[in-house]
Amino acid sequence: MSTRFRFCFLFASLMLAGMGPACSQVAIPLPSASEPGQPVHGEHTHPHALLRQAHLTRLEERLSTDQETLRRQCRFVSDISTAPPQNKVVLTFDDGPEPDQIEYILEVLDKYSIPATFFFIGDKMAQHPDLVAKVQEKKRHLIGSHSWDHPNFHDIDENAQRSAIMRGLEQMPAGNQARYFRYPYGNSSCFGNDTIHQQGYHITGWHVDTCDWAFDRNGSVDTHEALSCGVLSQYRHDFVGHVVASLRARRGGIVLMHEIHPNTLRQLERLIQEMQADGFTFTSLDDPAMQASMR
Ligand SMILES: [Zn+2]
Repeated sequence: MSTRFRFCFLFASLMLAGMGPACSQVAIPLPSASEPGQPVHGEHTHPHALLRQAHLTRLEERLSTDQETLRRQCRFVSDISTAPPQNKVVLTFDDGPEPDQIEYILEVLDKYSIPATFFFIGDKMAQHPDLVAKVQEKKRHLIGSHSWDHPNFHDIDENAQRSAIMRGLEQMPAGNQARYFRYPYGNSSCFGNDTIHQQGYHITGWHVDTCDWAFDRNGSVDTHEALSCGVLSQYRHDFVGHVVASLRARRGGIVLMHEIHPNTLRQLERLIQEMQADGFTFTSLDDPAMQASMR
């Protein structure tokens, strides 16, 4: 069976189940999917439970602590309150590079001539220099640092924070001009911020968290996680609808996604199409209009 045929068969099955786009829309084979939250490659893939716990802890703290205290402790600088340039979107993908997954994303981005930023984990970059090179060869995309090994900065001391930042930055590829750092789980600290800024890096958060990790392989999110992620009930089985509605509410901005979740990849092309149909245009983090959103 040819790859193309197998792929169309897969999507015909998904269509019958009411879960997929038409085969004619998709010509790029998806990588073999893995269960969300299960290690895909390497030992530092997010365990689902860890992510869920970090998300709930974050929500609880934000609800129970006054804004001034959070600001003074530099706790959540990743949530960008600054308005983005109107109707401009920056796609960002965290937690790679992952074999197969990133190649699929690159093909989709090529098809639509869209730039993106990849926030790579340092030790995964060390394992997959070929994948890093593939991103660089495209010229269109930026590579940012997502630390060395993806710790929760709210749970580690300053020495460990410095090490996670510095080892991550040391792993950035030669010739990479971009200077962007994104905190794992979006959890920042004053010490971390100072360290990142001293290295000439910008802290990059997001306007829209797609909460893609919470959607399972069938594209559904359970009620509990929907609540913690702010997914409205009408979008509990509609990842694309949720993201586009969130973008409309923010009128564009930096969009957080992860390359390790099967549903994100499966819906990526339709998501791009829906964003375009809604009048959003795609730009790079290097767009001067985006700089006010950096920290
Ligand atoms: Zn991450």
